[in-house]
Amino acid sequence: MRYQVLRPPYCYRWAALISAVLVTISLIISLSWSGAEGTPATPPPEAGQQIGAATTSSPPPAPGAPVRTTARPGRFVALTFDDGPDPAYTPQVLDLLARHGAVATFCMVGAQVRRHPELVELVVERGMRLCDHTVSHDEELAKRNEARISADITGARADLRLAADGDVPVPYFRAPGGNWSDTITAIASREGMTSLGWSVDSRDWTLPGAPAIVATVQQAVHPGAVILLHDGGGQRRQTVTALAELLPWLIAQGYQFDFPAT
Ligand SMILES: [Zn+2]
Repeated sequence: MRYQVLRPPYCYRWAALISAVLVTISLIISLSWSGAEGTPATPPPEAGQQIGAATTSSPPPAPGAPVRTTARPGRFVALTFDDGPDPAYTPQVLDLLARHGAVATFCMVGAQVRRHPELVELVVERGMRLCDHTVSHDEELAKRNEARISADITGARADLRLAADGDVPVPYFRAPGGNWSDTITAIASREGMTSLGWSVDSRDWTLPGAPAIVATVQQAVHPGAVILLHDGGGQRRQTVTALAELLPWLIAQGYQFDFPAT
């Protein structure tokens, strides 16, 4: 008797449970379909700039976005040296460049420029280009407010102009660590500077040894490459040794040297 009394409620409970499961499944299915329609297949966001070679099939960059190619098309590369000027390494880099008829762009830190203004003059005299790399090399610059970002960018350019004793062109700006934001590129653009990225990271900043720096660049280089190297910010003997090998190798591969696009 008890069995018969209890049976109908259990039956309803099972029916309710099953229909709830069915409704949930159909909801999940319909949601995933609408998601697939509403979200176009986009590539994952770029994991910072510390990436090897850029592909030639990538879409043209948005206005104000960091440039990652040489000014001229064809078999050119643009060498860029960051975090100087440094009294030990910058002159060595300049001598190597001169020996091989190469040009490069130097992304200088304002604090270093104030210590070694004569090196800015030397870089300009040798026909190289200057790039503003902020006063303080704050890798968290993107998190600061607009006034602070602006002061760090315009301050370094003022340091460069003061050091070069005149209205020397500073056509580029590069964010410390390659940590860009829309505000940073907008300020650089407003100040008349091209935001400068790179397409080949030599990873010399990890101090992997000169042979590893040479191998990294040899594997990743491509026509139009902007190559990241360092002449300051630490011990750069490895970079200088690698450069002595890379310059003749690049020339043997048919590469010529150019500045980055503006
Ligand atoms: Zn830097």
